[in-house]
Amino acid sequence: MPPVVRSLPSPEAEALLDLARELADGELRPRVDDAEAKAEFPREVFRTLGKAGLLGLPYDETYGGGAQPYEVYLQVLEELSRVWLAVGLGVSVHTLSCFPLSAFGSDEQKTRWLPEMLGGELLGAYCLSESGSGSDAAALSTKAVRSGDDYVVDGAKAWVTHGGQADFYNLMVRTGGTGAKGISCLLAASDTPGLQPHPPERKMGMRSSHTATIQLDDARVPADRLLGEEGQGFRIAMSALDGGRLGISACAVGVAQGALDTAVAYATERRQFGQRIADFQGLSFLLADMATQVEAARALYLSAARLRDAGRPFGPQAAMAKLFCTDTAMRVTTDAVQVLGGYGYVEDFPAERYLREAKVLQIVEGTNQVQRVVIGRSLTRP
Ligand SMILES: Cc1cc2nc3c(=O)[nH]c(=O)nc-3n(C[C@H](O)[C@H](O)[C@H](O)COP(=O)(O)OP(=O)(O)OC[C@H]3O[C@@H](n4cnc5c(N)ncnc54)[C@H](O)[C@@H]3O)c2cc1C
Repeated sequence: MPPVVRSLPSPEAEALLDLARELADGELRPRVDDAEAKAEFPREVFRTLGKAGLLGLPYDETYGGGAQPYEVYLQVLEELSRVWLAVGLGVSVHTLSCFPLSAFGSDEQKTRWLPEMLGGELLGAYCLSESGSGSDAAALSTKAVRSGDDYVVDGAKAWVTHGGQADFYNLMVRTGGTGAKGISCLLAASDTPGLQPHPPERKMGMRSSHTATIQLDDARVPADRLLGEEGQGFRIAMSALDGGRLGISACAVGVAQGALDTAVAYATERRQFGQRIADFQGLSFLLADMATQVEAARALYLSAARLRDAGRPFGPQAAMAKLFCTDTAMRVTTDAVQVLGGYGYVEDFPAERYLREAKVLQIVEGTNQVQRVVIGRSLTRP
């Protein structure tokens, strides 16, 4: 399989991509099957990525970020997800979790907490969803009431990626009345009294990434951990998701690329009817369509990322990228299983894992129906 041809903006970006590729193939590939089988979260891998400077790539250098354009950061995510989605998505969620503090925190808050977050010493989580409010996130009901120098928080945040593993949680909580304007964002430490993770969900795929409910019973979060103003939480959550959706897009392209590589390698080895199966036109056309879809998906997320890097509005384009890239990943991984025939359906090859991984990307950070809502609104209510 020829390597992916990339156009990167600087020699530094080229070096970063080489590093990400080396880490993916050298450090992640030997571990992925065992960790997925045992549903073990690879905390040490995140330490390695932090030391390599890959956990704060798109953030300011002032607080220890990598000061890289989003288009570079996203291609790093793609390389990691090509081998192990739980790690690529984990880096994406960590990066998303640093956004509220970076974009809305005071200088004092940033000085206190951001360097350890961007340096990867601390791992992050983003808690918007609840059992009763997923797509309708503004209907969330976890309450935070000011009491002296603290907020007292009661409720439960559902589906938290890194739940039980994270060192800090961005909690979207209700401090005011109903709807989006009553929501605030608190940056809670994992050792907050009254904050307790449930056991991880038992998932279809991405099992080494732990997803858990975070229970909050009279949890006392110091009031100086409020990010932005009271009532600004929904805006903070949504602007974090614009960038997050580009992260999911890049993860999806990584998964699709991994499945394509697996399919091409198999098709050039496997022989039936006295020839390589890759030499049947029926199969080589399937591979050609898969490769074309992967390239188109990559081009779409990169074009949205370049808008963001240029300081232009990019929300609808991020939604389009998320929709297209994750649907592409679903199609390409399904076709990869087909290329491997029966061997695609068993765990001896990674094709079935890629298929299970792709599915979740159509759901997280706004389902693909919700992406269509966002895109449709941008067309009819600009
Ligand atoms: C593995 C995993 C990790 C996750 N990680 C996180 C995390 O770290 N933080 C976090 O906050 N959340 C996380 N989530 C939650 C995820 O974002 C939600 O599952 C998602 O937003 C959908 O919400 P829901 O599951 O409640 O589905 P619902 O909102 O109940 O949707 C059910 C169905 O109805 C459709 N639907 C809903 N509204 C509309 C509409 N207006 N128009 C058309 N169709 C609609 C949906 O598309 C879907 O098909 C995670 C979920 C999973 C599975």
